[in-house]
Amino acid sequence: MSFQDLGLRPEIARALEEIEYREPTPIQSKAIPLLLEGNDVMACAQTGTGKTAAFALPILHRLLEGEKNHLRALILVPTRELAIQVAKNINAYAAHAGITTTCAYGGVPIEPQEMMLRHGVDILVATPGRLIDHMWRGNIDYRHTEVLVLDEADRMLDMGFIKDVLEIVREIPTDRQSMLFSATLGPDITRLSKQLLKEPVRIEVAPPASTVDKVEQFIIRVNRDEKAGVLEDLIRQHDMRRSIVFTKTKVGASRLASHLRRRGIQAEAIHSNRSQEERVRTLEAFRGGTIHVLVATDIAARGIDVDEITHVVNYDVPYAAEDYVHRIGRTARAGRTGMAIMLVTKEEMRGVRSIERLIGFSLPEEGGELVPLSAGERGSEPSRRSASRRSGGGRRERGGAGRRGASRGGRSGGGDRHSRQDEGVAAGASFGESRATGETRNGAAPGGPKKRRRRKPRSGGPGEPARGARTQRDQETRNDRPNPSDRDRNGKKEKRSIVQTLLGKLGFGD
Ligand code: AMP
Repeated sequence: MSFQDLGLRPEIARALEEIEYREPTPIQSKAIPLLLEGNDVMACAQTGTGKTAAFALPILHRLLEGEKNHLRALILVPTRELAIQVAKNINAYAAHAGITTTCAYGGVPIEPQEMMLRHGVDILVATPGRLIDHMWRGNIDYRHTEVLVLDEADRMLDMGFIKDVLEIVREIPTDRQSMLFSATLGPDITRLSKQLLKEPVRIEVAPPASTVDKVEQFIIRVNRDEKAGVLEDLIRQHDMRRSIVFTKTKVGASRLASHLRRRGIQAEAIHSNRSQEERVRTLEAFRGGTIHVLVATDIAARGIDVDEITHVVNYDVPYAAEDYVHRIGRTARAGRTGMAIMLVTKEEMRGVRSIERLIGFSLPEEGGELVPLSAGERGSEPSRRSASRRSGGGRRERGGAGRRGASRGGRSGGGDRHSRQDEGVAAGASFGESRATGETRNGAAPGGPKKRRRRKPRSGGPGEPARGARTQRDQETRNDRPNPSDRDRNGKKEKRSIVQTLLGKLGFGD
């Protein structure tokens, strides 16, 4: 089936031919006809499935008719990298359509974006926080907006953008066409879809959160202090020339990249503490092949669209099982094959089990094959079979480091909590968005579009993380505090035992 068979206009089909999209991917063949008919759509599609074209092509088809230079389609995305990527793709699809697309994201000066918006644009790809900044400045006129897309909606919720999204959506005319794309369709997404979509048609190109079946996946059991060495061995053994290594934290990513560089491997970190320029430069070098290993956090990796990534290494098991799906979706894009390796300490096995339940497979040791879980296993702990297979000597020993090393360097629950905090801040604060960048929130310039009312300053304030991330962090801080009643109890116990000891020494003990 060709793109023209799906009913797309020849201008669009021509551009697709030029970029060598020969036939639609499954999500495209399912979504495009439904969207051309004007339906609202809720789609479960991971990155790498071709979801961008699935929503962008029907938008372009629709916008070919009607007035130009009005904001007619809004695409909300969680991160600036994804915004850039989506806008770049749409511009390629629109090569013969005369439709303009621009993007708006935080962390860069607002004025150039402001000029573009005021000049007039047909499609805007934006991250929620920066879009609200533009709304406050009176740069956005939604009167002609007829299409709304929420891309990577699950990540948007994870990053705490829900209030911003709802605030934006309230301003968009209700007689619009809406689409929601998400890698997972959990209860939160379903709730959001009810607020946003009208009688949506639900599409899934694979079971929810299923992993890309072209990816060869396995785990390697290691001690914590062996991880860097094992990774280095793997990079050399597999001759990884275009690979992404995932860490849980920004600090961890930077340290690991420096370590690899010291060992003579071309590695660079990408995360929210690095400036936009540094990140763009790093990505270009990675695309160009001068950097072989990109060490990234989960948030940073969203929106990285680099073809032919051969290996994904999960240096740390992700906090959320869904992140595993996103991570391995970086390889085997657009029908290619790839390999995903996860380095797992004893303490991280719980995380592996959650992933297995989510993807419906038991992850093998090196050399093994993915084994589907039975229905019972999906809902409970993984099978004894897979557990015993795991314990069967798959651990890589390196340089004589043994279990002692693992317990010394092993991560406790507390260590994990701090790491999570680090990434939580990254999620909301500086990567996805530069929230409340300290810009003056003026009203519209004279003659500009609809003036926005001034809003109460955000609770976050300049440089603060997103609300969701902060809530989570607050919760974790609360969890860290000792429970006073426990402390009393322990304290009394301690005193009693000292007194008993003394009595014992004096010969009055029992
Ligand atoms: P996405 O899931 O939208 O991020 O797309 C993943 C990759 O697949 C991107 O590099 C796209 O350019 C590419 N792609 C999307 N649709 C097609 C297609 N029909 N044929 C070939 N490549 C495609």
